[in-house]
Formats: sequence, structure tokens, C-alpha cells
Amino acid sequence: MDCIFCKIIKGEIPATKVYDNEKIVAFNDINPKANIHILIVPKKHIESIKHLEEIDKELAGEMLLTAQKLAKERNLEGYKIVINVGREGGQLVDHLHFHLLSSDAKTPV
Ligand code: AMP
Ligand code: ZN
Repeated sequence: MDCIFCKIIKGEIPATKVYDNEKIVAFNDINPKANIHILIVPKKHIESIKHLEEIDKELAGEMLLTAQKLAKERNLEGYKIVINVGREGGQLVDHLHFHLLSSDAKTPV
């Protein structure tokens, strides 16, 4: 499958990983749009929120908690969690991901 995020998960393409467990990986966005711009990505290839199924609800919750944990670790007071859905929604990579964005970086990471 020609999916750039699957390749990052398999280690075939480099990325600056900031979190990694059996289900989720998070890495810095290659083209950051804020001081902090991290992508939270499930290791399971799910195309988008449109393709999320009942069986994925725990995974989706863990992705949110991962975003919260990464924000806490960085002492962020305020941040955004953005999910682009479909081309018309600004989604360019067809592997589900949450953007964690903040300009409130007190500690550069
Ligand atoms: P979206 O538009 O929501 O699909 O976001 C895709 C994001 O992936 C963009 O912010 C890109 O900058 C980012 N991106 C694309 N390729 C890479 C890569 N190889 N490593 C890290 N981030 C990437
Ligand atoms: Zn993928």
C-alpha cells in the first residue's frame, strides 16, 4: 500500500517520533504550521474519520488522550486538535491523523 504514514510506522521513511506505543505513533509535522505541530496517528490504516467504525472507538479515544498527554508534557495552556476529513476538508494524507497545534510553547521540544 502506498501510504506515507504506513511507511513512517514501518520505519521505511524517517520521522521525528515523539510518542510510540503498540497502537499509536506521534511525530512532528514535516511542515509545521505552529511552534508545536504534532501528528497523532493510529498504526492501523484507517483512511479518515469517514472510515471510522464502532470497533475503532477505543482507539479514537486513545488518540485524544495521547494528544492531551503530549500537550501536558509540553506545559501547553492552550492548543488545538484538528482533524481534516476528505479532500474538501483539507485532508491530503489518507491515513487518519489528529493535528496537535499550539503556539503556546514555553518549553521548546
Ligand atoms: P492533512 O492535510 O490533514 O492530511 O495533513 C497532512 C499533514 O502531514 C500535513 O500537515 C503535512 O505537512 C504532513 N506530512 C506529510 N508528509 C509528512 C512526513 N513525511 N512527515 C511528517 N509530516 C508529514
Ligand atoms: Zn496508512
